[in-house]
Amino acid sequence: MASSALGPRVLLRKLREVMAEPELAQTRLDKIVTLIASNMVAEVCSIYVMRPGDVLELYASEGLNREAVHKSQLKSGEGLVGLIAQQAIGLNLTEAFDHPSFKYLPETGEEIYHSFLGVPIMRGGAVIGVLVVQNRTLRLYADEEEEALQTTAMVLAEVLASSGFLETARQIISGPTELRTQVVKGESLAEGVALGYVVLHEPRVRIQNMIAESIPLELTRVDDAINNLRQQVDELLDGSEAMSANESMDVLETIRMFAHDKGWLGRLKEAVQTGLTAEAAVERVQNDNRARMMRTPDPYLRERMHDLDDLSNRMLRHLTGAVATASRTDLPDNAIVVSRNMGPAELLDYDRSKVRGVILEEGGKTSHVAIVARALGIPAIGQATGLSNLVDDGTAIIIDGDTAEAYIRPSTELEKAYAEKVRFNASRQARYKELRDIPAITKDGLAITLNINAGLAVDMPHLHESGAAGVGLYRTELHFMMASRFPRLSTQIKHYRNILDQAAGKPVVFRTLDIGADKTLPYLRQPREENPALGWRSIRMALDRPALLKLQARAMLIAGTGADLKIMFPMIADVAEYVLCRDVVLNEQEILRKRGQALPKSLKMGAMIEIPSLLWQLDQLLPLVDFASVGSNDLVQFLFASDRGNPKLAGRYDPLSPAALGAMRQIVVKGQQHGKSVTLCGELGGRPLEAMGLVGVGLTAMSMVPSGIGPVKAMIRTVDQSKLWAFMEPLLNSGLHSIRSELTSFAKSQGVEV
Ligand code: PEP
Ligand code: MG
Repeated sequence: MASSALGPRVLLRKLREVMAEPELAQTRLDKIVTLIASNMVAEVCSIYVMRPGDVLELYASEGLNREAVHKSQLKSGEGLVGLIAQQAIGLNLTEAFDHPSFKYLPETGEEIYHSFLGVPIMRGGAVIGVLVVQNRTLRLYADEEEEALQTTAMVLAEVLASSGFLETARQIISGPTELRTQVVKGESLAEGVALGYVVLHEPRVRIQNMIAESIPLELTRVDDAINNLRQQVDELLDGSEAMSANESMDVLETIRMFAHDKGWLGRLKEAVQTGLTAEAAVERVQNDNRARMMRTPDPYLRERMHDLDDLSNRMLRHLTGAVATASRTDLPDNAIVVSRNMGPAELLDYDRSKVRGVILEEGGKTSHVAIVARALGIPAIGQATGLSNLVDDGTAIIIDGDTAEAYIRPSTELEKAYAEKVRFNASRQARYKELRDIPAITKDGLAITLNINAGLAVDMPHLHESGAAGVGLYRTELHFMMASRFPRLSTQIKHYRNILDQAAGKPVVFRTLDIGADKTLPYLRQPREENPALGWRSIRMALDRPALLKLQARAMLIAGTGADLKIMFPMIADVAEYVLCRDVVLNEQEILRKRGQALPKSLKMGAMIEIPSLLWQLDQLLPLVDFASVGSNDLVQFLFASDRGNPKLAGRYDPLSPAALGAMRQIVVKGQQHGKSVTLCGELGGRPLEAMGLVGVGLTAMSMVPSGIGPVKAMIRTVDQSKLWAFMEPLLNSGLHSIRSELTSFAKSQGVEV
């Protein structure tokens, strides 16, 4: 039996000859098993192919009874062959009968064969079959033999897929729908549901030539590709390009480490020595890595598999010249983009009229791409681990951003149910649209101003579609987060001007940079902190490094030439901080005035109330501000000392509690006393029941996600504020944990739409 690299090389060359002959698919397989058996000096060589329903069928055999071909079947997990398929690992056994999984198939006549070597046949990360050799004698196959069989299996995968067995292979991947609906659960990044077809953000590189014509040439190709790859990664890490693609430093650092790993390069070259082309060698080594990593119990190591996949894909692109990302315009009408991760700009590059959803294998709620998905109003799921290995371009899929589930190859029933849900959502939206130009006035005549929160240019059309009064919170940090470096003055001016232009006269409140904690800038190194939410962030950073705030203020003042400019400052903890911020802006205005720069028609400044200490300084603060806006996301987090991003704490404290609503009431009353407008711009405002509680305590202005405007307006038009306050007032003095159920009952009994 061949114990040098020559064995597989000769075998691969012969395989290529067989593949080139115009044969019937079955004849070709029969020839192949004979060839492998003789090359490997084995008495048996068999190919099992995965059929729908996870059944492995004997498709060709040299040595086993011919009658068993297309008759013998094993379920995945059943017998040695089933075990190999299920676990995607090879088995090398001196005595097959001794293995606990051994299952005797009498029709094959295999009882005379003792030693057994089997490997999975993998394609695109999925097991599509099993290749086995057997011998009569009790022998342990050498590592080189196992290697050789694995290399052969790789080539065989292409043979199966390309010579008439493609249908079978396809069925494994696409599957008859009833049999194969699979669900992957992740984390919801953006709500909503959609039905469509998978578009892989990074299309798989399909390898055309598996078998090397010249080994030295392939070795040179490996060297060239690895040098190019190393150079590319170095450039990405050194330059700022990395950020535009939103590739995190960590991932790139890991990829760089692997790209310089001698072991990896060594394995690639060994694979080429067995007769594979450079690209087939990359796939071969990656298949091994994947199989190994899938078995490790260490989640950190399993995570690294993605990095290795990334590395292999980059290498394959260098070798084949394949494009890195899906065509952004030539898409199916209902495209669901699937990716390991992606940057916000990459999502924005897609034709928006065709993208219906985004599913990421990584990516959390605060990732920038999630922010963009929400801005675009498309459902998105993150942390959908393993999904891209289960789908291909064009796979039918349903994304449910509400439950964070993706249904791959949905059954007809499921499809019907979801199509109905989509129709229902559309009709509800249509109803809210009818409310667009109707004012938000309570039954007892209290007018409530409804604004939208925004942070990107793509948010702005929602302002007009929703019929909102203006933008109550423009989160300027999003523009900074999307950029690859600090936006210069001119870039900032252009951005703010664009927003004001799009607002077409409706008011916009620009909030100065609020970075830190969960909002990070890729180009800004922040010190590691024990407690980032309570750390050096937001306005604290701005006051310590005033150049940033000055630049931003200047940009806003210039962009707001001739307009009514509104600026507010986040995370103000005391009056003195507000005064410092205000003075920075006033000072910039003075400088510009002296330079003869045209200025805004009016300038109004406000403070966000999101740090509880301000609750005891309202009498001092309110006279100094033009307006105040409650950042309830942070205020509630700090009131209850409860991390807003920690899922373990979600729901533990209710904003509809006497404490939080009592604080709101206090702010509202103080605002009235000082004659200053008070609004709220946390997420609470966009949820009808919560918004009802806020209207109850007397709040008359709110800013929210655009999709909240319709439902909240419907609530407002069906509620009587004075009745509601009379109902709520005693409850705020109760010791209840939450008054949610009481408010729900009120809404029900009074016919309030929540
Ligand atoms: C808030 O804290 O409520 C708020 C609106 O600000 P952000 O969510 O951006 O921190
Ligand atoms: Mg905040």
